[in-house]
Amino acid sequence: MTEIRLYNTKTRQKEVFAPLDPQNVRMYVCGPTVYDRAHLGNARPVVVFDVLYRLLRHAYGADHVTYVRNFTDVDDKINARAAQSGRPIGDITAETTQWFLEDMGALGALEPDAMPRATQYIPQMVAMIETLIAGGHAYAAEGHVLFAVDSWKDRYGKLSGRSVDDMIAGARVEVAPYKRNPMDFVLWKPSSDDLPGWGGPVVDGKSIGRGRPGWHIECSAMAKALLGNEFDIHGGGNDLMFPHHENEIAQSCCANDTDRMAQVWMHNEMLQVEGKKMSKSLGNFFTVRDLLDQGVPGEVIRFVFLSTHYRKPMDWTEAKAREAEATLRKWRGLVAGIQPASSVSNTVMAALADDLNTARAISELHRLASSGDAAGLLASAQVLGLLTEELVHWWLAEADTPTEEFKAKVDFWIAERAISKKNKDFQRADKIRDGLANIGVMLSDSPEGTTWMLDHSNPDLGDWEVLNELR
Ligand SMILES: [Zn+2]
Repeated sequence: MTEIRLYNTKTRQKEVFAPLDPQNVRMYVCGPTVYDRAHLGNARPVVVFDVLYRLLRHAYGADHVTYVRNFTDVDDKINARAAQSGRPIGDITAETTQWFLEDMGALGALEPDAMPRATQYIPQMVAMIETLIAGGHAYAAEGHVLFAVDSWKDRYGKLSGRSVDDMIAGARVEVAPYKRNPMDFVLWKPSSDDLPGWGGPVVDGKSIGRGRPGWHIECSAMAKALLGNEFDIHGGGNDLMFPHHENEIAQSCCANDTDRMAQVWMHNEMLQVEGKKMSKSLGNFFTVRDLLDQGVPGEVIRFVFLSTHYRKPMDWTEAKAREAEATLRKWRGLVAGIQPASSVSNTVMAALADDLNTARAISELHRLASSGDAAGLLASAQVLGLLTEELVHWWLAEADTPTEEFKAKVDFWIAERAISKKNKDFQRADKIRDGLANIGVMLSDSPEGTTWMLDHSNPDLGDWEVLNELR
């Protein structure tokens, strides 16, 4: 098996990846807060960690990887959206959760093995907070429970490489008077009657009262419940490194009495648009759905993302999208009706195993395509989630709608080809495939059957002569 090396933010170096339990490789990635459509930047970690998930499944077996990505469905931004729109919170979170799954599915992202919603894990959060209080790592103040960073002062800040004193010196925010240390962060906060709330942790024998969890404790509690006290990989965008991941580590290590939460911490760099930071004020802010609605195939978005290494800023440009679309159109034509090779290119595997070097893997895909190795291209591209069956419909959908008569003829020849295969007349079956390809109908076989797409660049579209000779 290829040795996988990953850059660990915690140690600031590439390390050989050795799972705690190779029978169950465990990965947690921070998921979205569900109150709006995912913008393009939100999709980058989803695609990056989807490739890592595919690589781990390839290396350890699909049944030996557990990938958890949460939905944050209790948050002040959600409450604000509900108040502003007059809609119930549950409607907003249910709708935006569904949007997220649809949009990420359009990018070819596999669904994680578990997608816990924060509101389903409130008892686990409350229990963890009570453990932290009992251990002297948290305290109650004015209806809040806060994590006491002084109780873990020498270790807090290690991931992002800051000391508590530096952080305090750099802090420009107004500090709540009930905090013992300005860096103390909220584990639990009080809720008024119009906001979501649950019975809070018990402090000194009585409940602190109705409230809701802080954001950071959600991930610690859900990761513990689904992956255990220690697991292999924790991922997210590098904007989450501080304070979110720092706080997750502090909570989890103190509550679980462990030295680490995850062995490897991975962070993707941010996304830019045409060389500029994406922001509403610059007018270059758009969602994944905006692009899909403009007719940009999800596979093109994925391809552009993977053309840049995940630890470098990714610049989304229209030029890159056009180029990716031309490449994929060519590759889709090359692999139509072809079965993937039984093994993946060693060069592609080596590139991915080297800290997920998707850019280098894509160069190798180009080489495979230009050498005409369609089966090798297909098998290797699929490890990156490209040229998959799930995404082929984008290229089908954009074809002009063929007439019913045309479709009936294609169906007739697909059926004829299946009969030839069944009769072991592979020569005729191949002639039918070539005959269809000649008129621009590209076949694609899968266990579910054969699908087809039209190649409009083919000038002989609709010339059935070759096929009619096979009747
Ligand atoms: Zn998180």
